[in-house]
Amino acid sequence: MTYRIAVLPGDGVGPEVVAQGVKVLCALEAPFGIRCELQEGLVGGAAIDATGDPLPEATLQLCRDSQAVLFGSVGGPKWDDLPPDKRPERGLLRLRQALDLFANLRPAKLYNALIEASSLRPEVVQGIDLLVVRELVGGIYFGQPRGIEPDASGERGINTMSYSSAEIARIARLAFDLARRRRGRVTSVDKANVLDVSVLWRREVTELAGGYDDVELEHQYVDNCAMQLIRDPRQFDVIVTSNLFGDILSDVAAMLTGSIGMLPSASLGGTVGVFEPVHGSAPDIAGQGIANPIATVNSVAMMLQYALDESHAAQAVESAVERVLNQGYRTADVMRPGATQVGTAEMGDLVCAALNDTAASAG
Ligand code: NAD
Repeated sequence: MTYRIAVLPGDGVGPEVVAQGVKVLCALEAPFGIRCELQEGLVGGAAIDATGDPLPEATLQLCRDSQAVLFGSVGGPKWDDLPPDKRPERGLLRLRQALDLFANLRPAKLYNALIEASSLRPEVVQGIDLLVVRELVGGIYFGQPRGIEPDASGERGINTMSYSSAEIARIARLAFDLARRRRGRVTSVDKANVLDVSVLWRREVTELAGGYDDVELEHQYVDNCAMQLIRDPRQFDVIVTSNLFGDILSDVAAMLTGSIGMLPSASLGGTVGVFEPVHGSAPDIAGQGIANPIATVNSVAMMLQYALDESHAAQAVESAVERVLNQGYRTADVMRPGATQVGTAEMGDLVCAALNDTAASAG
């Protein structure tokens, strides 16, 4: 099979880690017969510098004409003083809206080899395997009215959190469908003791659960969920929540597993999905060749699974990553005494080599 993939490296460590994701995609040809036509596009600060727009029309068109998008990261100090509408991050928000990517999937799975990299005790984190399903194009990040306006005391900042029944139902349905393919448990997270929008959220999710007898539904308030993620993260299978709560909780879940450099994500909804590491452009380490590319490599695995329906290849990529970690190779962010420290490109090469070895021994 030949797939058309748009590659948007972006800023900071984005190009460094995306190059490793591309290597892995190319390494799938021999063992799996998967060929990718890769075409690069500008996004974020790189696009602002070249065109004045963080999401040029040509990039958007490239994404629309592709079967999936591999995205790096955007942003950095160089563009921090631009007005909010012109900043690199706005390019990503616009891309999500234009492609109607209403769901962001962030798995957090602990590799046994990295158990010591977590800030929590091994007995608390061993075996974590959860998926945060975050609503991505609604809620307080997009609600109107918004802005800063004068008032009697000086100024007032305003944002609005709003969800329609339809917006809640479509993200909840996806969470229930995903739970069916996992351990059959959904935790819906809201703040229904305080927020009206959460009362509607809880009502809609409960109603939808009636059609999923095989999935167990639990509701948690967001503050309790944050606490439970630290106290006993193994209780969770699928967590479904709004844009703002999901943004925060998925970063908490991220740290349970050791490093944000390990965590992939998929944004789904419309016809073309975007696959990207959870982390940002990491300006503090950009250009040093030390960023962990595994989040991006695992995002390629999610692309194979969710966009290209190549689940064997997806599993092979995940196994290759695990194999390299079991062999004791680590990037600086998850380094421990006795392990072998490698840079970004070397880690990409090791995963490709492990992929070939795994395929050779299977074949
Ligand atoms: P960040 O995720 O870029 O970095 C947070 C910390 O994690 C830093 O110490 C960084 O060195 C480390 N880190 C991140 N990725 C890593 C990797 N692959 N390997 C090893 N260590 C890694 O978050 P930030 O510092 O808050 O944001 C930096 C810039 O990125 C900002 O401009 C922000 O707006 C942008 N950002 C972009 C995205 C995106 O493109 N999706 C997401 C978050 C932040």
